[in-house]
Amino acid sequence: MEKHGTIYRVAGPVVTATGISPKMYDVMLVGEEGLMGEVIKIDGDKTIIQVYEETSGLRPGEKVIDTHHPLVAELGPGLLSSVYDGIQRPLPVLMEAMGNFIQRGVSANGLDRKKKWKFEAVAKKGDKVVGGDVLGTVKEFYLVHKIMVPPGVSGTVEEIREGEFTVEEPIAKVSGQDIMMMQKWPVRAGRPFGKKLMPDIPLITGQRVLDTMFPLPKGGTAAIPGAFGTGKTVTQQQLAKWSDAEIVVYIGCGERGNEMTEVLATFPALEDPRTGEPLMQRTVLIANTSNMPVAAREASVYTGMTIAEYYRDQGYNVSLMADSTSRWAEAMREISSRLEEMPGEEGFPAYLSARLSEFYERAGRVENRNGSVGSISVVGAVSPPGGDLSEPVTQNTLRIVRVFWALDSKLRERRHFPTINWLTSYSLYTNGLTGWYKANVAEDFPALRQWAMEVLQRESELQEIVQLVGSDALPDEQKMTLEVARMIREIFLQQNAYHKVDTYCPMERQYALLKVIKKFSDLSTKAVEGGAAVDEIVAMPLRNRLAKAKYEETIDSELAAIDNEMADAFDSLGGKA
Ligand code: ADP
Ligand code: MG
Repeated sequence: MEKHGTIYRVAGPVVTATGISPKMYDVMLVGEEGLMGEVIKIDGDKTIIQVYEETSGLRPGEKVIDTHHPLVAELGPGLLSSVYDGIQRPLPVLMEAMGNFIQRGVSANGLDRKKKWKFEAVAKKGDKVVGGDVLGTVKEFYLVHKIMVPPGVSGTVEEIREGEFTVEEPIAKVSGQDIMMMQKWPVRAGRPFGKKLMPDIPLITGQRVLDTMFPLPKGGTAAIPGAFGTGKTVTQQQLAKWSDAEIVVYIGCGERGNEMTEVLATFPALEDPRTGEPLMQRTVLIANTSNMPVAAREASVYTGMTIAEYYRDQGYNVSLMADSTSRWAEAMREISSRLEEMPGEEGFPAYLSARLSEFYERAGRVENRNGSVGSISVVGAVSPPGGDLSEPVTQNTLRIVRVFWALDSKLRERRHFPTINWLTSYSLYTNGLTGWYKANVAEDFPALRQWAMEVLQRESELQEIVQLVGSDALPDEQKMTLEVARMIREIFLQQNAYHKVDTYCPMERQYALLKVIKKFSDLSTKAVEGGAAVDEIVAMPLRNRLAKAKYEETIDSELAAIDNEMADAFDSLGGKA
């Protein structure tokens, strides 16, 4: 029997052991109960371990065993619809094992070992294959789950079977090696891919302010910072439901005690608008409740990312949501302080920024070695204490991500939803996406977007004057600019996530809506020049119809009708003027 180590010291989630010489990131079984932990530091003869379970009651002198393996995720059929803790233990299994609160020392497999899956071969005996090549497929709800040669394996297919298998039964033999449907991969290392592609195709979310104003490409990175209650969770759930990604990985790090419970209750109830079936059928949910140990929370983002990469490798678009990354950073801070490391800003470790960038760098759109193209788009919510964006997690995140959706408490007070501030938010991908929008939406779409942004910009400049002298002092032309800006804000930017029509706005409709507003603006400029009163223009019945159109089932024909009738409506106005 192998020699084991001994606990020397216990400090919260951090345990120091002596008498062993493991490698960094080896998984250790700590104490008599065999609690799972991971080596995070080696200091002479002392091994420092972060433990994924509650450590109270552990005592110096208890044994510590090195498994000689890093923390891995189990990858294969059965991931979709699962709800896991940070180290991929299925929550339902955990809860059954120990009632409603998480006890210690329960080990549970990420993938069900008993369930059989119908495997259909794609590769044939004699084929030459390398890691990533597709051997066959399994139906996982609506998804064609591709069973791939694991990274690092290559050679000739000597045997391939078809039929019903568990994830541990061999389905093929490649150069003497049995291949199972389940793969294991160390969560802290990115999975290999062929090559990175340009992020030049938008992730269409159906949310107007995102798609039109501050777009995120497939494979891009975005942050949503916002104070409590500004709409981080609603925005992420809208993205999960509506974006044109086949797979959703949702990593929940509860803000407060009951919030994760809420996610656990709401998420499984969400309906996939495309199939009418539960959204969970294409979702993997990772839940860190606030009573779970911080080390598991620290690991959870890597577990989630590894699962996302596995579906990317199959050629799917994955959207990965982390809500909220601030809780992850706080877990790092707590562990770092237990290690008595030199603290950086606000007590966060000096490597906070490196960890954040390593995480976001695993996003991207890639060409896989099997020829398919897949992507991981990452959207991280950030919850700065008191909404103060100058704090370290927000600042470090903003240096890395290329889209910034700034949620604004003032907009929430005005009940402007989504509360994304159009003056401070940005997307550094906008230029790279212009080609796609021109080719797939309309040639003049980028110009239209630019026009809307300029009107909003002018509004904010004019508002400064209005505050000084009042709006009556403005010339009519500028009064009209304010009215048009209001239309852009209220009709276009505001979007009700809970309204059955308004919740999702396809790209063509976003274009049509903005185009009609622009036409209204152009005609009103002329009307004002011809002497029409601004009040009269604002009071036009057509203006009112335009405001209401987005809530109508018949929105598309209504927009076309408004567009048709608009010139006449302005003519009769001109006649009166
Ligand atoms: P956070 O996660 O930032 O604390 P939530 O996402 O829970 O905030 O949002 C708080 C509330 O704001 C929601 O319960 C909802 O009432 C409202 N809200 C947010 N976004 C929208 C939206 N797009 N449409 C309608 N209401 C919204
Ligand atoms: Mg929230």
